[in-house]
Amino acid sequence: MTRNSKFILFFICLFLVSCARDAHLETPLERNNFEELTSYADVLSFVQKLDRRSEFITTDTLGISVEERIIPYMKISSGEFGEDRLNKLIVLLFAQQHGNEPSGKEAVLALARDFAEGKHTDLLEHLDILLVPQVNPDGAERHERRNADNVDLNRSHLILNAPETIALRNLFHTWEPYVTVDIHEYQPWTRSWIEKGYIRLFDEQYGLVTNLNTDETIRLFSEREFLPYAEREITGAGYTFHNYIVGSPDRIRYSTTSINDGRLGFGILSTFSLILEGKNARTPTEDLQRRTEAQQHALLTLLNFCKDKKADILSIVRSARRNLITMEDPEFVLTMGRQRDTSVLSIPVLEVVPVNDDYETGDTVIVDIENYYPLVVKEEVTTIPDAYLIPATEDRIIDLLEKHNILIKRLKEGDVYRGEYFIIRELRTIELEETEIIFSELRKEPAVHIARDGDVLVPTNQLHRLMLATALEPQSMHGLLQYNEFRHLQQTGRYPVVRIELSDVAGLVE
Ligand SMILES: [Zn+2]
Repeated sequence: MTRNSKFILFFICLFLVSCARDAHLETPLERNNFEELTSYADVLSFVQKLDRRSEFITTDTLGISVEERIIPYMKISSGEFGEDRLNKLIVLLFAQQHGNEPSGKEAVLALARDFAEGKHTDLLEHLDILLVPQVNPDGAERHERRNADNVDLNRSHLILNAPETIALRNLFHTWEPYVTVDIHEYQPWTRSWIEKGYIRLFDEQYGLVTNLNTDETIRLFSEREFLPYAEREITGAGYTFHNYIVGSPDRIRYSTTSINDGRLGFGILSTFSLILEGKNARTPTEDLQRRTEAQQHALLTLLNFCKDKKADILSIVRSARRNLITMEDPEFVLTMGRQRDTSVLSIPVLEVVPVNDDYETGDTVIVDIENYYPLVVKEEVTTIPDAYLIPATEDRIIDLLEKHNILIKRLKEGDVYRGEYFIIRELRTIELEETEIIFSELRKEPAVHIARDGDVLVPTNQLHRLMLATALEPQSMHGLLQYNEFRHLQQTGRYPVVRIELSDVAGLVE
């Protein structure tokens, strides 16, 4: 080789190396060597860059936060997003409702980057994916759980008291995805565990729907098909995994049955809905690379499961949603409790020795937890009527239903409806799921309601059927009556919401 051709070769190599570098896009976290969290400004510019780089990615605005930050989301599709609903499953992944749980955001950005670089094209043959890296940018900028109005966004999905959750739920209603995953981090070092000398160590936990009113087929499918798949894939990659459990060593159960959180707020709409809980750390950036990679692997596991089981999920969710509309007088569980079964929960934990305000970690040991309450059981039940009637004076309830995209019919003065009134005799607090709920002693009496202008009729044969009963039945343990925002409902006498039977021949007089 001549001296000249050596030079030329050298420059060609240099050019190729720089091209390769340019082709690989680092996430902001990777660029910072996993030592600094991705800021809001970097989230925004990175998702815009992905949109410019990739034909698969479209970045758009989900909504505006309390402090007026634009919340971006991405649509990932190998074709026209949402156009092929017969063959493609729409999956919604959303992270960082809690601002101090950052690894989900970092994982979602890395996942989006991989799609932009042409990885996982097999998934995109079967899935259209919605990615929200950061539902709560205001909280994230302060590294705080709640939004700038001090609202916990994962306790806001029924009462919709935050612009961030309203925006997320509007995105859901635009596409009605069959699969949703709410991405979090749990705290492994809570006091009750440290006092016993342990901290928890699962890298990843997937939580399923627990509320007994959610579709049973979806519940069983999640438990029998998804959980073993997730366990195999996640532990196979060297991470520890468990079905999401909450509580102290003195009492462990699955997480809440309330539909005010993201998992059940979407689950009650007959969605294959999950919560993912990675492991948080003592500082925002401690162990951040592993935390991010574990979350990313858990999300890829879910996406691969959706690809492998696409036909099942399409058929199960489709028929569950059809049932919501066509079922006659479905049973509705007003209150549910927890019970033990005969099993003892054996889980690995890390031994810790408290040192001043901190602790030192020791060995991994297995503990047996006997106070394990894995069962959710029915207590009070009722049936769901054909419709609820809400008087115009209950404008807060009517506003809420409209925010939920629930179909309502405004009534004309003088229309007559038959059904039942609730007469609340007494309100008392009872303890369920370790929290106090307000339980109403009531009787029902026949109602002939003559409509006033502005009253609304809410037919229950819609996607929100179970959400409606949950919200509006006064004895529902997760109903509006339980919330401070609706505390005017906490009184004896006639409850404003009326049960209406339209099937009754005399029920509807137009
Ligand atoms: Zn969380």
